[in-house]
Amino acid sequence: MREYKVVVLGSGGVGKSALTVQFVTGTFIEKYDPTIEDFYRKEIEQFASMRDLYIRNGQGFILVYSLVNQQSFQDIKPMRDQIIRVKRYQQVPVVLVGNKVDLEGEREVSPSEGQALAEDWGCPFMETSAKSKTMVDELFTEIVRQMDFSPLPDRSEACCATCNLQ
Ligand code: GDP
Ligand code: MG
Repeated sequence: MREYKVVVLGSGGVGKSALTVQFVTGTFIEKYDPTIEDFYRKEIEQFASMRDLYIRNGQGFILVYSLVNQQSFQDIKPMRDQIIRVKRYQQVPVVLVGNKVDLEGEREVSPSEGQALAEDWGCPFMETSAKSKTMVDELFTEIVRQMDFSPLPDRSEACCATCNLQ
């Protein structure tokens, strides 16, 4: 059985954990624990090159913003640049995701803005909700489909399973 190393990237609070937990366990984490999150964030920040490490080991990337937070949409652009740099400009499987589509009334990023960015990057785009389980299975199916079309990774870089970071 092939193992897929997927890295979920995006700024804090966009729903990276909720999407991953929804996909893996079929449940929604309603309660946000800032104490644990803050602690985790501090740990991560102590290692400046930590994200580089995750990216190096990742084979597929889910880039998540919250569609009710325009800033989170701006935040993913430098993250994608970092992937390109760390992966030495090789083609890597990426899916762009606007999460929290259940909060339509509070939307700050239009579907066409997300679509335009995905076209610019040449990757698929989806709007999801970890809360109402909208397009969550489809999202993970899509990243796996993309990875199936990619060449197998260098064996010397085997490590890590599903990584989730700020
Ligand atoms: P992370 O920092 O990116 O891992 O974000 P979390 O997964 O911890 O989610 C941050 C907050 O947003 C939590 O309170 C979640 O319950 C909430 N959340 C995550 N996904 C959704 C969603 O699709 N819809 C709504 N309404 N809330 C969500
Ligand atoms: Mg999280």
